[in-house]
Amino acid sequence: MIQHARRVLKKAAKRATLLQTVAEPCQRFLWRHVQRAFDWKADVSTITIDITLGCNLSCRNCDRAVGLAPSAETMSVEQVDRFVRESIDLRRGWRCIKLSGGEPTLHPEFGSILEALTPYKKTYPDCEVRVLTNGHGERVRGVLSSLPGWVTVKNSEKESGKQRFRTFNVAPADLETLRGDDFSRGCFILEYCGLALTRSGYYCCASASTVDRVFGFDMGLKSLSSLTDAAMRDQRSRLCRYCGHYKYNYREDWSSTQETSPSWRDAVARYREDPPRLTPY
Ligand code: SF4
Ligand code: SF4
Repeated sequence: MIQHARRVLKKAAKRATLLQTVAEPCQRFLWRHVQRAFDWKADVSTITIDITLGCNLSCRNCDRAVGLAPSAETMSVEQVDRFVRESIDLRRGWRCIKLSGGEPTLHPEFGSILEALTPYKKTYPDCEVRVLTNGHGERVRGVLSSLPGWVTVKNSEKESGKQRFRTFNVAPADLETLRGDDFSRGCFILEYCGLALTRSGYYCCASASTVDRVFGFDMGLKSLSSLTDAAMRDQRSRLCRYCGHYKYNYREDWSSTQETSPSWRDAVARYREDPPRLTPY
């Protein structure tokens, strides 16, 4: 609902400078004072699995922080297998399972990951298994050309790391106007991208897992059954305050240069010195 209100306000803002001046405060008012009536509805029918943080690009403001806080760790085939068993046991009919990263096709056992997902696809043939790829480079294109027919592809066709993204590494907690917010409400991404699984467990969204990986709170949930509304709200309370996407609740904030606020600068410095060791899934 808040998304609809935003669209109306944005359209209005494009029409006149006066309305433009009014649109942002209105949006801020709705978000701050008409709470809960405008809550985001998380898409719990979709899950993004970040199988690797390796990537052949290093985009500025990447919301997996693959350039700022690199990691050679990947999800194991056994972890994907465990996800499949959990999902089947709990009769969890996913609408879409997205394989992501980093660049997922660069996972050293990408073929085995797909094999591990096969029993799920046989049990739930309507589930779309989708690879999210940057489509960059011969190796990636080679893997994409040999995918089985039941796998779909979303290719962002990036040519380089010079992308315009939201300023993911500018934490709302570092902004005077936002640091007092109720961060447990999250942002629109909950409605679009669904839940997430990494080598450290389940999260309310993939960006939350990035914050956790770099800041080291160790909040990944270790079973699908523990991914409750209360647990996800808990994750959002702790993690959204460092996620730059949160700012989109108020305004669009895009940049093609790497923007980094003090919390992120400190966390990245600590990470580079001694990366947090999160409990594996
Ligand atoms: S291609 Fe995607 S994962 Fe890789 S650096 Fe760019 S935004 Fe991040
Ligand atoms: S603010 Fe960031 S971490 Fe929180 S719900 Fe949105 S994308 Fe996820």
